Parts: sequence; C-alpha cells; structure tokens
Amino acid sequence: ISEYLHKEVLVIGLAKSGLAAAKLLYDLGAKVTVNDLKATEEDVAVQELKGLGVEVICGDHPLSLLSKKHFDLIVKNPGIPYKNPLIKIAIEKEIPIITEVELAYKISEADIIGITGSNGKTTTTTLIYEMLKADAKNPLIAGNIGTVACDVARQATKENVIVMELSSFQLLGTIEFKPKIAIILNIFDAHLDYHGTKEEYVLAKGKIYENQTKSDYAVINYDDQLVCQTSEKSQANKIYFSTSKELDGGAYIKDEFICFKGEPIINLKDIVLPGKHNHENILAAITAVKLRDVSNAAIIKVLTSFTGVKHRLQYVGTIENRRFYNDSKATNILATSKALQAFTEPTILLAGGLDRGNEFDELLPYLEHVKAMILFGETAVKLERIAIDKGIEVIKRVDNVEQAVYTAFDISEQGDVILLSPACASWDQYKTFEERGDIFIQAVHKLK
Ligand code: ADP
Repeated sequence: ISEYLHKEVLVIGLAKSGLAAAKLLYDLGAKVTVNDLKATEEDVAVQELKGLGVEVICGDHPLSLLSKKHFDLIVKNPGIPYKNPLIKIAIEKEIPIITEVELAYKISEADIIGITGSNGKTTTTTLIYEMLKADAKNPLIAGNIGTVACDVARQATKENVIVMELSSFQLLGTIEFKPKIAIILNIFDAHLDYHGTKEEYVLAKGKIYENQTKSDYAVINYDDQLVCQTSEKSQANKIYFSTSKELDGGAYIKDEFICFKGEPIINLKDIVLPGKHNHENILAAITAVKLRDVSNAAIIKVLTSFTGVKHRLQYVGTIENRRFYNDSKATNILATSKALQAFTEPTILLAGGLDRGNEFDELLPYLEHVKAMILFGETAVKLERIAIDKGIEVIKRVDNVEQAVYTAFDISEQGDVILLSPACASWDQYKTFEERGDIFIQAVHKLK
C-alpha cells in the first residue's frame, strides 16, 4: 500500500509494538521518527532503528518535537494516555493519532476476528485460535500472549485468518479498523483512570463494531446490557450468545448442553475449563468459529483438552484424586472470587502476596467451599484474620508457594481441589505472577 509513502510519521512509545510499527512504516516508505521516554541509546531496538536511518529521541517526550517538524501521522503506544502533554498538542494540531492495530488492519490480506471485553479476552482469543487450528483453518494469533498485531498482519496471506485480542486502549486509536467478525464479551467498570468516564470506556469498546458493514458479523453478549446498547447502531449481521436464555440463531446453554442454532454440541461436564465465567467465553468462541465453518468435532476436541491459558485458572493435573489449579494471574480479590466460584468441591486455597494496604473482607462470601487456607507473603496475617472470621478450621502460614503446595497436599483428602489464587500481586516475593505460577506448577510435578 502506498498510503504511507514519504509520509512523516512519529511513533511514540518503543515497546515491542512500537518497534514493529516503526519497521513496518519504514518498509512502506514512510519517514519515521521514534520517541520513547524510557529507552536509551544502548537499547538493541534503538540501535536497530538507527541502523536503518530512523531518528530516535530517547529519555523525554520533548514538546518541541511537534513544532520543529510537521508530522502527517502519529502512532501511539496504547499505554500512553491522551492527557500526555505531547499527545495533547498533537490533538490541537489535528494530527491523526492511531495505534498499531490500525496499521495491521491496513496491510492485512487476511480476515480479522477481533475480540474485546473487560474480562476473558485472552481466554476467548486462545479458544478461537485453537478451534480454528484444530480444523486446519490457518489461524494466526495476535494479542497479549506476545505477538504484535502488525507483525502478524505482515506475514498473513488470504489463506489465513487473524485472531486478534484488542484492549480498549488499542481500539481508541483506530480509524478504519474493521474486523470481519467482532466480539465484545462484556463491559464492566474498568480502567476509568485512563478513560475518564464509563461512557468513554464504552465508546472505546464500541469502536470494534463501528466500521462493520453488511458483509461482517457482530458477535454480541445478549446478557450484557451495555454490550447490546453498544451494538445497536452496527450495520453488521448480529449474532447473539447467552448463558441464560435460549436464543433463535445464536449460542446458548440448554439442558446442560452448549448449543448453537438449535444443535447441541457438547455437555458442560465434558469441558475441561472450569468456571461459569468460562461458559461466556466458550459460547462467544463457538459463535465465531461456526461463522468460519469449523466442525463440531474440532470444537469438541479443543473443549475436552484445553486446560486454560497459563496462570488463569489453569488445570495443572490430578494427583491421588486431588485436582490442582494455577490461577497466579489472580492478583486481586475480584479474580480470586471468580476462581472460588468455579468449584463446588472442598477447596484448599493458597493465597497471599504483596500488601497494597487493602483488607480482604470482600472475599468472605466466596469462602463457602474453602476447607483450608495456606497463606504466604506480606498479606498472610490479614488473610488469616479473614479465615478465622469465616471459621475455617485449617489455617497454615508458610514461607512461599512451594511450601504451600506441599502443606496443602499433606492436609488434603481425596476429591479436594487445591487452588493457587493469591488475590495479591506477586512482587513481595516473586518477579512476576508468571514466576509464581511456574513455581506452583513445578512443585505439583515434584509431588508426582
Ligand atoms: P483478559 O485477557 O480480558 O484479562 P483472561 O482471559 O486473561 O482475560 O482472564 C483473566 C481473568 O478474568 C480470569 O482469571 C477470570 O478471573 C476472569 N474472567 C475470565 N473470563 C471472564 C468472563 N467472561 N467474565 C468475567 N470474568 C472473567
């Protein structure tokens, strides 16, 4: 495409996505300037860009950037807020500001399935990808799991379909972006610090449907009023899914079966992914892949084997009839409450971590099936108080996650669920929630 040839483009924010966007624009013949607050001259990415002759300005967002030179376009990292002074000036100057997903759309030869929502994006994106793969539909995945949209779009051909996870931050920076199939899973009050108001957050999510036409599909959560409102003006074919109501022409649950357009596909008890919240993700995924003619056999194959995205209520294994789940991503109370609601079996909860100053009383209603709590990290004492309030009989304090696994196994009985869902960030003891989850997995494997 020639749209960017000789254009002056400023890329602000040089994470993985900024580097990919800058290189793409360079290859498309644009005159690229890159600006990053944290990068230094020694960074590999900076060196690489400089090698191409791209001007890179590090360590500051100098406001003079926009007065010294005229820019035709700005590609902004989704994490940089619109109230950033440099961005504010760009808005005043009416320079179009996009995120790299817009570029991905512009260059992609493949159809795009776009997935957004407050919760469940990564899980649903992965499910759709796996189902398409199981039926040899040549999917490519772009999203939080590590692949940058415009890199993926570059390698895609007409034979591919790109499954793209989209945050509201990314969607705000789109202009013509138009997925063939667009999904909004749900809309909760999230990220109000960035978007300012709930209305703005809803508008950002709604951009996924905005440019769609009659030949596209909008996949809509029937149970979520805000999602339904958001899709009202959409020109696309609308297809609904619901966990609560039997729908003509959509996906729903009836008599313990997941159904699509009147046809039962799989019994809930055969699905490996735990938790009611995952029913929503599964219904959305099935709706999307049915639009690409994926067979029931492929859908069943994935749902009977997919153990979840790593660290998100991930099934790790069963030892002597005790089931182990790694939900290390649960770094707050809401996430842990979801995890606890996924089980009706006696549960041993492994929790604790960084103390952010909050209390944990909101967990109390969800501890119904919890028979023991194994606690570690800075918040162990606070969590212990909750456990005592609830009258939980077995409460143990341990030094770390590894010890927690062994202690839990020691006190467990046949049929128990042993769940790491810390309700806290990991930084008091671990570098990341991934490291914490990996240590849990290793300890479980050692038990074997
Ligand atoms: P995201 O990518 O949107 O952050 P994930 O798929 O990574 O979502 O899931 C993160 C957490 O969000 C899960 O551990 C679970 O607690 C919760 N969650 C997942 N799907 C849903 C859903 N459909 N509704 C509500 N909560 C959900």
